[in-house]
Amino acid sequence: MSYPKAVVFDLDYTLWPCWCDTHLRPPIMPHASGRSITDSAGMQLEFYRDVESIIHELRENGVLLIAASRTAAPKLAKEILTYLKVTDPATGQKVSSIQMFDTLQWGQGTKINHIKKACATLDISWKEHSLILFDDESRNKDVRKINVQFAHVPDWDKGLTRSIFDRVLQEWRENNRQGGMKSASSD
Ligand SMILES: [Mg+2]
Repeated sequence: MSYPKAVVFDLDYTLWPCWCDTHLRPPIMPHASGRSITDSAGMQLEFYRDVESIIHELRENGVLLIAASRTAAPKLAKEILTYLKVTDPATGQKVSSIQMFDTLQWGQGTKINHIKKACATLDISWKEHSLILFDDESRNKDVRKINVQFAHVPDWDKGLTRSIFDRVLQEWRENNRQGGMKSASSD
């Protein structure tokens, strides 16, 4: 099965159910399990249910992972990614989820800029490789202008789900089938 060169994730309401810059009251504390964090007001936060298995699948298949967020609190977002743990497919060990990301991009404005910066950092081209952005905000669909497939994550209760992920990946495979068939027939 083919996979994109890189997958881009928004954070707030795509990977976890809050705006970390407005809903969380620092300092935050990790839970010993690595599955959640608690803020100073007692609010608990964890990844949406299917996020870990999706990260796992992408890493297992050599896909580069990019985070692209407009949050006003990147330091806090990094702390959340440090405290929330996932299983690294390379070792089978639980590691900070931040280690599963190849680059983290922050800032206001269009995510075209986040993605261009990420591609420069990773030395890949958005022109040659078709990437996917998963994001709850449909205004970010402007990334289509640079050939990035936009995948809307519409439900704040469920966030990024396995069914959205599988459907989008299937669409990506169909859109990119021509390239795959060409290379197969030239063998
Ligand atoms: Mg968001």
